[in-house]
Amino acid sequence: EDPQQPLQPKHRVTTKGNNAPVPIETFDDLRERWQPPAHLLVNLAKNQFSQPTAIQSHCTSIIMEGRDLAAISPTGTGKTLAYLVPIITSLQNPASGNEDAGKGARAVIVAPTRELAQQIYNECLKLTEGRKWRIVLFSKATANTLSDKLARDKVDIIIATPLRLVACLQSGNLELTNVRHLVLDEADRLLDTEFHDQLEEIIAACSHSKVQKAVFSATLPAGAEQMALGMMRDPIRIVVGLKDT
Ligand code: ADP
Ligand code: MG
Repeated sequence: EDPQQPLQPKHRVTTKGNNAPVPIETFDDLRERWQPPAHLLVNLAKNQFSQPTAIQSHCTSIIMEGRDLAAISPTGTGKTLAYLVPIITSLQNPASGNEDAGKGARAVIVAPTRELAQQIYNECLKLTEGRKWRIVLFSKATANTLSDKLARDKVDIIIATPLRLVACLQSGNLELTNVRHLVLDEADRLLDTEFHDQLEEIIAACSHSKVQKAVFSATLPAGAEQMALGMMRDPIRIVVGLKDT
């Protein structure tokens, strides 16, 4: 390290909450502390995700420690991988073929628009390539019958818009009682009045006592934040801000 050019952190990070875990500094830390599936590390390298971003450093540890989380970080700072990497790590192996795995979905990611759900799905496919994970995209565009049928079986990760997810729940084709990870991405848009009823229904359907809840957003207005924290247990709140110059 050149003492004349000290490493300047590009971001100012503020955490609030009890016993926030030590962040990872590298994806090697992730490997040493939590033994992610080998193909995940291969896929990170293959896609040039060589170093975790600030939000990824913090959220990886927080999610791996099983904590509920509200994460606020500007657009473009890598929030998608900040939850996908630790979720895939904690799922470890695809559920199909695992007799002990419960029915239905293990992780659910909710996004306010079809386009966003599609982007998350694409990132997820990059990270899970090489193993037979069952990742299902539920958005308006997807044909009902095939994916509905899929979701009754063992699904590792569902990525969905709220309306589609609720329609699927109401048709009796979706089993969310074994979900261990529930993520609301772009939570400011999900927790506003437009989707309020759908979100209540989705949250209630994820009824497992060990479901971990996380919300991600670039901004979280007070009302939305209150609603988010209200559904959590002993949450950690993390804010990444661009350091003022
Ligand atoms: P946000 O949700 O915060 O707006 P995204 O998750 O969409 O950000 O990520 C923005 C871009 O940064 C994407 O193209 C993504 O592939 C890339 N990216 C994410 N994490 C990393 C990383 N650790 N290293 C390099 N690029 C990354
Ligand atoms: Mg995003």
